[in-house]
Parts: sequence; structure tokens; C-alpha cells
Amino acid sequence: MSLRLYIPGPVTVSESVLKAMTQPMMGHRSKGFVALYNEMQPRLQALFRTADPVYLSTSSAWGVMEGAVRNLTRKGVLNCMNGAFSDKWNDVAKRCGKPAEALRFEWGEAVDPAAVRAALATGKFDVLTLIHSETSTGTLSPLADIMAVAREFPDVLTVVDSVSSFSTLPIDKDALGIDILLTGSQKALALPPGLALMAVSERARARAATVEGRGYYFDLLEFHENHLKGMTPSTPCISLLYALQQKLREIDAEGHEARFARHLRLNEAVRAWGFAKGFELLPRREFGTRGLNCFRNTREVDLERLNATLKARHSLIIDGGYGKLKGKTFRVSNMGDETDASIARLLAALDDALAEQGK
Ligand SMILES: *Cc1c(COP(=O)(O)O)cnc(C)c1O
Repeated sequence: MSLRLYIPGPVTVSESVLKAMTQPMMGHRSKGFVALYNEMQPRLQALFRTADPVYLSTSSAWGVMEGAVRNLTRKGVLNCMNGAFSDKWNDVAKRCGKPAEALRFEWGEAVDPAAVRAALATGKFDVLTLIHSETSTGTLSPLADIMAVAREFPDVLTVVDSVSSFSTLPIDKDALGIDILLTGSQKALALPPGLALMAVSERARARAATVEGRGYYFDLLEFHENHLKGMTPSTPCISLLYALQQKLREIDAEGHEARFARHLRLNEAVRAWGFAKGFELLPRREFGTRGLNCFRNTREVDLERLNATLKARHSLIIDGGYGKLKGKTFRVSNMGDETDASIARLLAALDDALAEQGK
């Protein structure tokens, strides 16, 4: 039996998606490729809730996270930081040579819109980065409130990472005025790693046209020029695009609302299990994200032993805490293709593995 991944990425990839990836290669400038690209585009726009183009990048999410900062920043970037991924984005912006400042919150806290307003009011910034769902802490920041603040500053372009929230709940890109909404393949979308997706506003492209040093691989103008032809700038990982095509068809067959409802239901089921076992979420409950739960290890479970038991007896694993939270928290994913049955199996396995430790 293959190992089922309840870690918050990569998550288990379905048989149907794996099979789609075995389709034969084609030229990336061929009619077949353009048909593939153009079939996916409206489905992607519907999922991103946008009329803007959705570009596909053969890279992990970090590629386009770095690219967004390089393309858009002239004056300075404000990085909202409340966990491992958002903290690193500040470091990445600095490594790109951009003036970057940190807006720090404790790990497990959500980003506070009032603090964002105060920082942007200094006038030092023309880009804001935000991680909607901080995967390292299972924290969902109040996106609508933060975007309402950002819209008070028309010169500030917004880049929102939705790697672990995309398609688990609705994100109204255009209605909220998000300039770049990006995600990766191996978490909420349950595809293999290596693909990043980003919906990019016209004003983001206009800004990019005035910025030096965009490079080539993540140049938004290159993406757009090729997008108009139904293509990507360079040869993409076509197998991953076959996987995405299959996934988008499945998402549309399920229905977006049904998909959001399924994620909420499964997320609540895992939460209820954790609360019944005496665990609490790391973030305040109202800021708990919906594609995973990050619990405090309040009962001092030996998480390495827990995972060893889960693996040996049940062929599955969860996550024992990210970075400085290792051992102190554990994270359980309900992203991707999980079902009531697969989550019930997981919870029964967790019960068994806890009992094995007398917990
Ligand atoms: C996993 C993750 C990333 C980085 O993804 P890569 O695919 O490793 O580049 C970025 N942001 C968030 C919120 C993530 O969970």
C-alpha cells in the first residue's frame, strides 16, 4: 500500500491525475498545446474569480513569489510576516536587491489590517506581500479586511500567496482588487510539485513595464505576450499541464461551491476530533485555515513515534511541526482530494497511534 500524505504538502496525488501525466509529449508551440492551454484558461479564471489572465510557470511557488517582487517593486516592498513562508519572503525580496521591510506578527497570529494601514501610510512602499494561509502555522489572515486597507493606497500593488488556501474557499481576486494572486501545485490543488499559477492584473503588468531587472524566466511581460498566443514563455513541464487539465475538469465536475463545502466539512471534522482529544489550534479558532489544522501539542505526544506508528500500521503520515514549531505543534492536511471516508480513516488511525502511547 502506498503511503498516504496528510502532511500539508505535497499531498496525495490521485490515480486519475497520475494517469493523465502519462499522455504522450507534444511540441510546446503546437496546435495541440494551444488547445490544452486555451481549454484550461477559462476554468482557471473562474477558479481565480478573475477576468485577468492566469499564467502558468514551471517552477515551484517560490519562483513566482520571487518573480512578483522583482517585477513590481520600485520604491519598496512591505512583507506581512507571521510564519515560516511569509518570513522568508522578506529575505527573498532583500536577496533580489529590493528595499524590503518586515511587518512582523507572532507565529500563529493573523496579520492585523490596522498594522498594515499604519505601515503603508508611511508612503515607503509600492508593493505589499501577504500569505493568505500561513501553512507553517495553519493561520488564515483576514484577506478582505487587509485588501480594503490596501485599496486605500492606490500606488501599492498587492501580491497574495494562496498556496494552501486556493480552491479550499472562495478568494474573490478581482472584487478584492488583488494584483497578483498566486498558488502552487502540490498543496491545495493536489498535483505533483513543480507548477506555479498566477493571475495578474493589468496594472501589475503596467508597473512591470517600468521596472528594470525583471530578468527573463519570471518576466510578467514575457508571460503575457505568450499567453496571448496560448503559450508559455519557455518549454513548460507539459506532463504537469496534463495533470492540471485533469484536475480542473474534476474540480468543475464537483462544482466550486461543493468543493469549498467539502473542505470546510472535512476541516471541521479534524478540528472536532482534535478538540475532543484535548488539543487546541495554534491560531485563534476564527483564524484557523481550512485546508489544514495546526494543533498545539499540549498533551506532549511523541510526534516522531506517532508518525512511525501511523506509517507502520496505517500507511499514512501527518506533519510533526514546521521549523521552530517542530515537536510543539502537529499539522493535519485536508487539502486536495480528501473525502469523508479518507478523513474518517485518518482519524481512526490517529486514535490508534495515540492509544499506542497511552494518550
Ligand atoms: C509551500 C508553500 C510555499 C512554497 O512552495 P514551494 O512549492 O516549495 O515553492 C509558499 N507559500 C506557502 C504558503 C506555502 O505553503
